[in-house]
Amino acid sequence: MADVILKDVNKVYPNGFHAVYDFNIHINHGDFIVLAGPSGCGKSTTLRMIAGLEEISSGDLIINGKRCNDLAPRDRDIAMVFQNYALYGHMTVYHNMAFSLLIRKIDSDEIHRRVMAAAEILGLVPYLNRKPKQLSGGQRQRVAVGRSIVRNPAVFLFDEPLSNLDAKLRGSMRKELSILHQKLNATFIYVTHDQIEALTLATRIVVMKDGYVQQIDTPKNMFDNPRNLFVAGFIGTPPMNFYHGTVESDGCFHFFDGPKVKIADAKFAELKDLGYVGKEVVMASRPDYTYMDDAHLAEYSEAVVEMDIDTSEMLGSYFLVYGTLANQTVISKVLSSAKVDLSRPKASLAFDMERVHFFDKETEMRITKEEI
Ligand code: ATP
Repeated sequence: MADVILKDVNKVYPNGFHAVYDFNIHINHGDFIVLAGPSGCGKSTTLRMIAGLEEISSGDLIINGKRCNDLAPRDRDIAMVFQNYALYGHMTVYHNMAFSLLIRKIDSDEIHRRVMAAAEILGLVPYLNRKPKQLSGGQRQRVAVGRSIVRNPAVFLFDEPLSNLDAKLRGSMRKELSILHQKLNATFIYVTHDQIEALTLATRIVVMKDGYVQQIDTPKNMFDNPRNLFVAGFIGTPPMNFYHGTVESDGCFHFFDGPKVKIADAKFAELKDLGYVGKEVVMASRPDYTYMDDAHLAEYSEAVVEMDIDTSEMLGSYFLVYGTLANQTVISKVLSSAKVDLSRPKASLAFDMERVHFFDKETEMRITKEEI
């Protein structure tokens, strides 16, 4: 069992740069935590502090009830799998996996048992006598994971392990990692800048920006209820559309220099109670929840606006339609099966107003009475 707790963890590098601010999380045994965010947000620094490769400037790191700030990496019961999975080129797959156990002077029968068990889990049994250069990228990545598995750690740390792989292989390795996580019943902490990896792998995602944690949540909740504009723009492909405008006393959202749409009753009541009537806000809607087909235009008739169609892209089962609405950019996802003429210069667009969010223009926080 491995609980990992970070309590008010900060990192200030020797040059004075404050890379991570007050990081707090309780990671439960079996969690698959994904640290996500743009380049430079502090996710690798956080992982390296957990690994013991970077000193913790202040705060506590507790693994299995034990404060680990000052423990050497090898004494932390963790294993790290790097993006650059440097395997020993002159050793076979078997010896690459056995090596760390050999130098720990573990009994040879036990080494064999652990290497074979890892090879079984990772589907590497047929390749045990090969050298790394005789393997594909995905197989090499599996060997790198195997080197960690044989050590039987409580916590696995992954730093962008898939970023060297091509898109197709990344997809299949994602699936493998997810299955591996279930088989090992271990705690995974995983760094990526790829929000698709975060959504597909995590039990909980931590989104970071400029050293600050923005939101810690399940993928579904992160997608459905982003805490602030940054998370709303980071999670989801294509990202949410943001529209500037005002909340009117008649219960409508008024796009700047543009049309009005009726806000859902419960949402308007919330905006009203929180003092937003007459104020400027940002309305955010996912491209998935705007529609251009006749049935939805009729269903959401109180929230239909005219847009200019700039261009569209065919992506198999759906089109992405890029347009302009009240001088603001809009992207809408339209199912290929929907009967919509995208060759027109103008079209009607309906919003599912139950699914839109409103954000405070100054604080950029989602406007809600819920505790967030
Ligand atoms: P990436 O996806 O590019 O790896 P990241 O979110 O993992 O980004 P970190 O590597 O954690 O980012 O770096 C966070 C910030 O700390 C960056 O601004 C980086 O320049 C800075 N930084 C990293 N290492 C040092 C160091 N040794 N000294 C000073 N600043 C550093």
